[in-house]
Amino acid sequence: MVETWCNHGRLTSRRAAAPVSRDNESPGPIPMQFLFSSLLELITETSTNLPPDVRRAMGLALAGETPATQSHQALNIIATNIDMAHEDEGAICQDTGLPTFIVHAPAGVNQIGFAAAIREAVAEATRRGKLRPNSVDSLSGKNSGNNLGAETPVIHFEQWEQDAIEVKLLLKGGGCENKNIQYSLPCELEHLGRAGRDLAGVKKCLLHAVWQAQGQGCAPGALGVCIGSDRAHGYLLAKYQLFRTLDDSNPVPELAQLEAEIMTEANRLGVGAMGFGGKASLIGCKIMAANRLPASFFVSVAYDCWAFRRLGLVLDPETGAIRRWLYRDPELPVAPMAAAEGVPLTGREVVLTAPLTAAQMRTLKVGDVVLIRGEMYTGRDAVHAYLMKNPPPVSLDGAVLYHCGPVMLKEGGEWQVKAAGPTTSIREEPYEPEVLRRYGVKAVIGKGGMGPQTLAALKECGAVYLNAIGGAAQYYARTVEKVLGVNLLELGIPEAMWHLRVKDFPAIVTMDAHGNSLHATVEQETGRALAATQAK
Ligand code: SF4
Repeated sequence: MVETWCNHGRLTSRRAAAPVSRDNESPGPIPMQFLFSSLLELITETSTNLPPDVRRAMGLALAGETPATQSHQALNIIATNIDMAHEDEGAICQDTGLPTFIVHAPAGVNQIGFAAAIREAVAEATRRGKLRPNSVDSLSGKNSGNNLGAETPVIHFEQWEQDAIEVKLLLKGGGCENKNIQYSLPCELEHLGRAGRDLAGVKKCLLHAVWQAQGQGCAPGALGVCIGSDRAHGYLLAKYQLFRTLDDSNPVPELAQLEAEIMTEANRLGVGAMGFGGKASLIGCKIMAANRLPASFFVSVAYDCWAFRRLGLVLDPETGAIRRWLYRDPELPVAPMAAAEGVPLTGREVVLTAPLTAAQMRTLKVGDVVLIRGEMYTGRDAVHAYLMKNPPPVSLDGAVLYHCGPVMLKEGGEWQVKAAGPTTSIREEPYEPEVLRRYGVKAVIGKGGMGPQTLAALKECGAVYLNAIGGAAQYYARTVEKVLGVNLLELGIPEAMWHLRVKDFPAIVTMDAHGNSLHATVEQETGRALAATQAK
């Protein structure tokens, strides 16, 4: 039998069982006295402490980046954020995704009861601010508030012959989930031409997958890949590849070689951290091959961001107590990632305090670093949609609008920010030009950049787009001095309009009021680099 990476990053040929459907009406947890606390610990640790293999990969990315570049600065903030999250047991990134559990259990374990215990632990972790409430009813748009709902959290069960229960957890946010991509070969790819039904064609797809993500998936990222299978199962198997450690070796020689080639060539494209242009674009590439239909040749790619949150536990099947951790050794101390706390300031940073004017914004240019002091409002998808039909609940004239869905908790009667990194701005492209024109917003903060319509509106209105560092949720939460209020709370905590007072909130001007966009420049330059991979 040829060994291949298959289910959940394990050397096996077993197939995953279908997900178990569940809702809030299921029976209670099974009588394992330690199960709830073990699962709660797994969720908390996964959300707040990156595994050692990801830390090593990010350490290499930081060490290899050119000092004093925007990418280097972004990696420094990321490293500081990783340390802060571990120190404070806070969410590394505010977007904790749809928690995805993979459970292997011996025959006889009550899967319905086990799933109930997982749901109970997920709800408690949400109540404690370790997970952001992320489960939204797709018909009504209502957030359940506790991460429970139809098919959330995601749980996959598989029976095995070992005398233990293994639980693995992946937290993967929406920004990188939206950059997953599936190719049906043969196909034509921008900058790369025809990708055929062979490994050369697969390689083109994977380089294209890194290029199309740019900074929107919070690069440097990692690819989980499935060659073959059908559309639905291929995506699932691609995600399962993310359960492999980043520094393992693929036992299939041609896949091992492909993984190595993708790592080398993707890191020559120049996407860089957050898409700022730089050396670190990819921290891992894990590929498996599954059989396919003669008529189909899919390449399914699960793109994960630098905030690669994945851990696991082996549990006693009688009590649910932790026998051991997967991916980490809790006895080993966790070394800090950053050389020093915070980001070294040069004194050339521009301090911005709202209300801002068009004249002020026109003095800024792409590449300037700004420090925001004073007030800002959060607003993401639901707020933007609301503003298309209704006037804002507060004046936005001269305001700073932050694309952010924070984790908030009420403590002692006051709202506290628990995590507050930027969300992917491109989703607001259909709305932002109108928001700028109608309401007078002068600075929009987010990550990954925006498109030509917003760029034109920035120029017309005398406004700028500021790129904050995606996933740096603890770092930015610490810049919040006070939560001044909240509007539109009925939209749910992440979607509400939070009124914040911040101190020295750093960001980089990546789209200015003169029609310049760093994102457009990097996309063009990396497109040329992508094309050059075919010239060899
Ligand atoms: S780091 Fe970026 S892509 Fe990843 S979950 Fe956070 S916001 Fe989303």
